[in-house]
Amino acid sequence: MCDFRIFFALVGLVLLKLVSGSAQCPEVVSRQSWGARPQQRHGWGSLAVPAAYVIVHHTRTPKCTTRRNCEKMVRSLQNVHMKYNGRDDIGYNFLIGEDGNIYEGVGWNRAVTNIPSYDRDSLHIAVMGDYTSTLPDEKVLDAMKRLIQCAVSRSTIDVNYQVFGHRQVELDDCPGTRLLQEIKKWPDWGYY
Ligand SMILES: [Zn+2]
Repeated sequence: MCDFRIFFALVGLVLLKLVSGSAQCPEVVSRQSWGARPQQRHGWGSLAVPAAYVIVHHTRTPKCTTRRNCEKMVRSLQNVHMKYNGRDDIGYNFLIGEDGNIYEGVGWNRAVTNIPSYDRDSLHIAVMGDYTSTLPDEKVLDAMKRLIQCAVSRSTIDVNYQVFGHRQVELDDCPGTRLLQEIKKWPDWGYY
């Protein structure tokens, strides 16, 4: 009898783990869904996991508020990065639209080509819009926090990761003054 109780308790724990595990990771719109071009040539290769940093960017573009427009925006950013910036692919691991969706950039396993000294050990996340004087919608910030928690749970980033705004590690105004002020309030923000 006692054995049965232990068995059911264990089954319960496994189910709970499965449910909470999947709840930690938000849905991501895949490259295939948004119509990505294939990677052009070999970049840095794999991300060094668990990565030490999360680097937050904005794309300095208009906002997109529907999935259709956001997918179009991701495609156009990939084109610009590959055609005019000479990168092997889109320069972010993930992008978040004002529609609240997360879009796969180079994804979980590859290092972006963006800031050479911070590409192999950082997860680069961009919010699509210009956040110099306005904040992204609450659902965008929530999506970013859930994505970061997911990255910790799958050991893509270290449990003691730090979050930086792009301008903290390179001469740039990215991710916009207002968005930087916001991420500075987060407990995992890295002061430089
Ligand atoms: Zn940036």
